[in-house]
Amino acid sequence: MGERVLEADCGSCAGLCCVAPAFAKSSDFAIDKPAGRPCPNLEQGSSRCTIHERLDERGFHGCVVFDCFGAGQRITQEIFGGRGRRDEPDMLAVLPVVRQLHELMWLLAEALKLDEARKLHARLQTALDETDRLAGQEAPELKRLELDTYRRKLNPLLQQASRLARGGTPRKDHGGANLIGRRMRGADLRGASLRGALLIGADLRDADLRRADFTGADLRGADLRGADLTGALFLTAAQLRAAVV
Ligand code: SF4
Repeated sequence: MGERVLEADCGSCAGLCCVAPAFAKSSDFAIDKPAGRPCPNLEQGSSRCTIHERLDERGFHGCVVFDCFGAGQRITQEIFGGRGRRDEPDMLAVLPVVRQLHELMWLLAEALKLDEARKLHARLQTALDETDRLAGQEAPELKRLELDTYRRKLNPLLQQASRLARGGTPRKDHGGANLIGRRMRGADLRGASLRGALLIGADLRDADLRRADFTGADLRGADLRGADLTGALFLTAAQLRAAVV
């Protein structure tokens, strides 16, 4: 695979993430919106958000923390060759599929940066190439893909890379833990597994999170001020936007 950009380029997308998902009025979205209907803040005839600079202020925090990992522009430009319309059901239907595949690609690319996981690099690269190939398929194939099965197949490899990077003996395993609102100020969480942990509103101020694994952790409102995130693993820009830093 060449150098694929795994971050959103909204200017090259048809605004798919502003049409495809349903919004439920909540702290994340100021309005209810059914799936497939364009958000009223989307400029007609373009993919420009008319409130882009004021999303938080206008109650659209859910948009601030969304990341398509570059799936939107790939669907628009490559899979539909720049010809698709954003209300085309197939374009909307493949967004969650390609997004998940691109997220997996981002995780694999991050794992490939880990020196400690060098012995896995060949397998990681093969998995990355295969995931890229799957993400570039036509809409009918994408819709048929068994994503959960594919994700389960790759997870052990990513977990192995994480264990190697964390020294083989993780200090604490909080994988999948419910830590909502938990007070962990100043906690020693070096090399901890926080994979899939719910850390919504957790107090992690001044915590030592060096080499902690954040794969899929929900950091909405988590207070990370003063925390040491040096060498943190699989921590996305969107997770950081969701937290207080
Ligand atoms: S508020 Fe803006 S970014 Fe969010 S869905 Fe609507 S148009 Fe898109």
